[in-house]
Amino acid sequence: MPTALLWFRNDLRLDDNPALQAALARGFRLLPVYVHAPREEGDWAPGAASNAWRARSLVALDAALRARGNRLHCARGDSLEALRGIAKASGAEAVFWNRRYEPAIEARDAAIKRALRGDGLHAESFNGSLLREPWDVQTQQGDPYRVFTAYWKTASSTRGALRTSTAPRVLPAPDAPLPHTAGPQSLPLLPASRWDAGFHDDATPGEAGAMHALRRFIDTGLADYAQARDVPGRDGTSRLSPHLHFGEISVQRVVAEVEASTAPPAAIAAFVRELGWREFAYHLMHHFPHTVERNLNPRFDDLQWAKPDPGLLTAWQQGRTGIPIIDAGMRQLWHAGWMHNRVRMLVASLLTKNLRMHWSLGARWFWDTLVDADLASNTLGWQWVAGTGADAAPYFRIFNPVLQAQRFDADGAYVRRWLPELAGLPDAVLHAPWKQPALLRQHAPRYPREPVVDLAASREMALAAYQALRQR
Ligand SMILES: Cc1cc2nc3c(=O)[nH]c(=O)nc-3n(C[C@H](O)[C@H](O)[C@H](O)COP(=O)(O)OP(=O)(O)OC[C@H]3O[C@@H](n4cnc5c(N)ncnc54)[C@H](O)[C@@H]3O)c2cc1C
Repeated sequence: MPTALLWFRNDLRLDDNPALQAALARGFRLLPVYVHAPREEGDWAPGAASNAWRARSLVALDAALRARGNRLHCARGDSLEALRGIAKASGAEAVFWNRRYEPAIEARDAAIKRALRGDGLHAESFNGSLLREPWDVQTQQGDPYRVFTAYWKTASSTRGALRTSTAPRVLPAPDAPLPHTAGPQSLPLLPASRWDAGFHDDATPGEAGAMHALRRFIDTGLADYAQARDVPGRDGTSRLSPHLHFGEISVQRVVAEVEASTAPPAAIAAFVRELGWREFAYHLMHHFPHTVERNLNPRFDDLQWAKPDPGLLTAWQQGRTGIPIIDAGMRQLWHAGWMHNRVRMLVASLLTKNLRMHWSLGARWFWDTLVDADLASNTLGWQWVAGTGADAAPYFRIFNPVLQAQRFDADGAYVRRWLPELAGLPDAVLHAPWKQPALLRQHAPRYPREPVVDLAASREMALAAYQALRQR
């Protein structure tokens, strides 16, 4: 049987994997390959938390392949050279992969496809990670969308039937000579000291972990999702984001399982709509690739951001702003590599509006610390909160973190979990402890006495900067 390379990237699964299925359907034996090539990601080489997750996900994929009579062949360095080398050593005739959409990677992959075809190999790519690829959805004028509601209306109403495939029971290695390659443990991905231990309290990298998270969510969270998704102290969301980012589960599989569940249709629609934001993020990144660095809305290019203050930035990063909901969020991020969506919005609003630091400073911190760090969703999230992106929160909407915390963390469960030093404060004081200095001193002598920024005054200054921009 002829041999094909199956080039794994952000599709670290065997279930519902279009490239894998296509290669099998064309009669190939598969040689699974992973190439570690962070330099090819442009300015967005994966961050430390992301690498720590990926390391475990690759080990899980290798184990799944071994259980089927195969293994993952890992290489480092230039992707094209690695693929060429492995193809030559094994006599492979084809290379199959699932597409990625980050600007630097789209350009690289196009060049690799051309080069492999030039070598006489069959090179083919597939959609393995989106319900709708970025170019599949357009306005009646043929333009990309910039407003989510309109995008989602078109994208969801023209979706078509879901088609999923299951993992093959066996995937025997080719008869061809196998290249001398290392396994995933050889890649420089895991941190030297195990600061990532907390990442795995509630999540397990790999395909089995992804399926477990989906099942748990369908059984215990989906029915109540629309209400619970905004309450950070509850386990009310799916926690699928890193699994989706690394392609440990396909979004088609997620939607198929969710739609087959007995949850109320409104709950299902609310959840699938959130997946729609992920789709929209990819749509925007593909059509407006500059937005990973610069404002989507050029009107904001003249906004006067504050000069970054390293002390304030560090206080924000380390969860020492003196504003409990913010600090709880930043400490959850540091410990778990993940933060609840509502709190992501609050910490981003504090940084970009109250502290008036450019959104890219926050995006970079998230990039290094999130296990679900995803260029499309992170860019969308930061530009949305900063007010500089598509369909963004209006610039003048500045979240008040105290009111938000009182509303969405009314019982203080979230703040008490991530800031145990404040656990003894009464509910009435918990979200603005500086208002009761004696109590704060007594319960948490090392917690900041005052917020790093005056919330009311900084709000006014942000609004003034916005007004100045409008008048230009
Ligand atoms: C400033 C900021 C930065 C963000 N950075 C990222 C990021 O790097 N990676 C990332 O995956 N998400 C990011 N998000 C979006 C969102 O916070 C996470 O997707 C969500 O919290 C993941 O938790 P979950 O899987 O339990 O979500 P659920 O509520 O269970 O949602 C299911 C899935 O839908 C998708 N989704 C939900 N909300 C959004 C959204 N607003 N934008 C895009 N996709 C969404 C995710 O894939 C998620 O796993 C960011 C949001 C903000 C405000």
